[in-house]
Amino acid sequence: MNKDTNVVEIRHGVNSTTTFDVERIRADFPILDQSVYGKPLVYFDNGASAQKPRQVIDAMNDIMETNYSNVHRGVHALSQRSTEAYEAVRGKVARFFNAASENEIVFCRGGTEAINVVAYAYGRKFLSAGDEIVISHMEHHSNIVPWQMLRDEIGIVLRVVPIDDDGNFLLDDYAKLLSDKTKLVAMTHVSNALGTIVPIAEVIRLAHDHGARALVDGCQAVQHGAVDMQALDVDFYVFSSHKLYGPTGIGVLYGKEELLNSMPPFMGGGDMITSVSFEKTEFQQAPLRFEAGTPSIVEAIGMGAALDYLDAIGVDNISAHEEGILDYATERLSQVEGLKIIGQASDKAAIISFIMDGVHAHDIGTIIDRAGVAVRVGHHCAQPVMERFGIAATARASFGLYNTPAEVDTLVEALGAVREFFD
Ligand code: PLP
Repeated sequence: MNKDTNVVEIRHGVNSTTTFDVERIRADFPILDQSVYGKPLVYFDNGASAQKPRQVIDAMNDIMETNYSNVHRGVHALSQRSTEAYEAVRGKVARFFNAASENEIVFCRGGTEAINVVAYAYGRKFLSAGDEIVISHMEHHSNIVPWQMLRDEIGIVLRVVPIDDDGNFLLDDYAKLLSDKTKLVAMTHVSNALGTIVPIAEVIRLAHDHGARALVDGCQAVQHGAVDMQALDVDFYVFSSHKLYGPTGIGVLYGKEELLNSMPPFMGGGDMITSVSFEKTEFQQAPLRFEAGTPSIVEAIGMGAALDYLDAIGVDNISAHEEGILDYATERLSQVEGLKIIGQASDKAAIISFIMDGVHAHDIGTIIDRAGVAVRVGHHCAQPVMERFGIAATARASFGLYNTPAEVDTLVEALGAVREFFD
């Protein structure tokens, strides 16, 4: 990956001499050791959700077997242990992403909820009619719809940065869209439908030059390379744990501390207050003011274990492995008759969307499933991207740290069978 993108820039204190042994890594993922329709499973749907290593599963079981209780409330031993374990994850996330403080780490249900927290808590307080939000043509629906809801409610204006025919983000066009009306830039770091890596450091810098805040949707970025909050100087950054080899039900909203504390709560309830009377309620500072109610405790522990796991392997090692798979898969898929890759940006993460002449994407997915190969088919919650390329759907192979070149060969072979079926 390109240095300018700020993916793979910072090491997390990982031993750079670690060798990447994909077979040893695969052995950590119990689910991979199975057959589908009598064929070894090839899991290429990591962009939708990644599989979980034994270390994550064990950590979640372990807390439930030994230390589980509600957090922040109890004086008893289990509650204290559970609170300690839960809060330790906040510190882990802060260190992993080089946040200035763990107070900048808000736990949410996932990336979608994190964006919605910003739309509600930041958008409704700081934005008003006529203010502009800039997004790109390749956003996931979760970074479009919340802003449209805000537009319909308070009259903000949405501006969309175009992409070229290869799926490249057009930085010059982006710069031209910025003005003193721009109040927020909400941009994906990596496109889930195309794999394009957006030059996010530059995007943030230009937003700040215009006095705008920057939110980055990192749901497809954090699993592919290191991301440094302070180096990026980003205002908000969001991601989901389940694409990062952790469990569902938890994700992170990173926000600069003073910014989070300037925002009103998103939901009211227990845990987010310092005092309540019928006349008046005082709120906690961030992050707890955004975490009303009982949080996803077991899931937070699982996410912490996933970060430990990735740290031990080395995020840079994972990036290098995935780049190799991406290059190999791009070359092999390009040789498949009638196959067209949608999204050939100059800087890409390990995601390949493709279509085949005369074959519907759903048929591709269904036929290769019989060969044990799992890919995603459809519009990938990115309908404007499909519309941009004049297609209804693609098949998408998204690679993870446990995938191998031999699995790519299996995919290519299975696509040969698709071709034969339709010829
Ligand atoms: N943003 C991007 C780029 C995504 O790919 C996804 C999920 O596919 C999301 C946001 C939403 O993530 P979640 O459904 O985990 O909240």
